[in-house]
Amino acid sequence: MARRRAAPLGPDYRESVLWHEGVERAHPAPGRLPTEADVVVVGGGYCGLMAAAELTRRGRHVVVLEAEELGVGGASTRNGGMVIPELKYGPRALTRKYGPLGREMAESVFDACSLVARLVDEHGIACDYQQTGGLLLAHHDAQVAGLRESEREWVDDLGRPAHFVDGDALHEEIGSSEYVAGLVMDDVAGIQPAKYHAGLVRIALDAGVELHDRTAAEVLEPRARGGWRVATTRGVVLTKDVLVATNAYIDGLVPPLKRRVLPVGSFIIATGVLDEDVARAVIPRGRMVFDTRNLLAYWRLSPDRRMVFGGRTSLAPMSVAKARDRLYEEMVRIHPQLDGMPLDFAWGGHVAITFDRMPHFGRVNGVAYATGCNGTGIALATWFGERAAAWIADGEPPPVFAHLKFPKIPMSSLRRAYLPAVGQWFRAMDRAGR
Ligand SMILES: Cc1cc2nc3c(=O)[nH]c(=O)nc-3n(C[C@H](O)[C@H](O)[C@H](O)COP(=O)(O)OP(=O)(O)OC[C@H]3O[C@@H](n4cnc5c(N)ncnc54)[C@H](O)[C@@H]3O)c2cc1C
Repeated sequence: MARRRAAPLGPDYRESVLWHEGVERAHPAPGRLPTEADVVVVGGGYCGLMAAAELTRRGRHVVVLEAEELGVGGASTRNGGMVIPELKYGPRALTRKYGPLGREMAESVFDACSLVARLVDEHGIACDYQQTGGLLLAHHDAQVAGLRESEREWVDDLGRPAHFVDGDALHEEIGSSEYVAGLVMDDVAGIQPAKYHAGLVRIALDAGVELHDRTAAEVLEPRARGGWRVATTRGVVLTKDVLVATNAYIDGLVPPLKRRVLPVGSFIIATGVLDEDVARAVIPRGRMVFDTRNLLAYWRLSPDRRMVFGGRTSLAPMSVAKARDRLYEEMVRIHPQLDGMPLDFAWGGHVAITFDRMPHFGRVNGVAYATGCNGTGIALATWFGERAAAWIADGEPPPVFAHLKFPKIPMSSLRRAYLPAVGQWFRAMDRAGR
């Protein structure tokens, strides 16, 4: 077996998140935790912040509890920054499975992306938002028919701009000979995720939200006369309602959610700044790029022209250093132009996988939740937050995903034992083009 090569590291290499560099984080005053609130929101990522801002705008007194330092914990400042209107299944498969609700689900992710664009515009969020378009690449001939079908779905069913590329047109999109075809989707955009998160923090604080970080919710207890007693690491808050916006960072707070959400590691590496001609050679049109594999890779240029390359090469628990070396090999296999280019950053985070690969929204044992972004949640989590606020404050209809049954992850307590085997099975399917 060929020995794995360690990735070359630049002199300033750090095991930390590129996006955190130079972003001023809001430090909410560490004031006393209020004893009462209308709504307690658990989680200070995109979903929790958006929900809190919108609930406050609708006249509610809201307290956000974030277990970690705001802007450091969770996935919202450590993702790939690709704003993608996608679910794991296209509109035709969703309609076959869920009837007219399926189409509503497919359309809702476009609403979610429009919400991100509107927030950026209306609130002047300086997060390097750019509608770059996305490029989905087929790694195997067997995937080409699927891409053609996706093109028809985007253009004919949803009326969205997209086009299939192969041959010379493909090579004008990507400097790699590893792929057989691609689908360009114009609606996809890129952001700097931590700057977008900082923008949502500002919107929430300006609205009057009380943000408390380094404060974990530990126990949710229903009260005899309605409402909740929320015990935290810094005291108790009595509240009328609770929204749990923890996505993959699920702990034992709401046990039925823990049995339904599987946190899986995803890792990202970032090279040093590329010369302009090298950047143009790898992603000539600056698209957000991802491929069709089960153990997918996703990559893009950062606003300061680094290659940012992410993915999962296994489902087994893994150190950042090991994932980094594997991702580097993968990056160089796809883009040999980058061989020898040292890395400046590597980091990881968790994505929330559900058994049906769908997002979920609703109440369990009386607690409201929005979860299950399955690796594509920048737009969805923001939109879930906004919709949750309208639902909780004013009884507006919940997102269509509230109609789905939320299946348990089979044998979830044994996940550490069986996940590596699932990963190997995914890799075998990827080799076979399935
Ligand atoms: C490496 C990686 C790459 C990704 N790339 C993309 C991408 O390119 N495009 C895309 O659309 N999506 C991407 N995602 C997914 C996206 O980042 C998430 O779907 C999104 O950030 C979820 O936002 P959220 O607010 O729901 O949850 P998070 O941002 O994860 O926030 C949840 C928060 O809850 C807090 N918390 C948990 N338990 C408690 C408790 N008991 N008390 C208080 N606080 C608690 C956590 O500390 C955490 O900060 C990626 C994710 C990862 C990890």
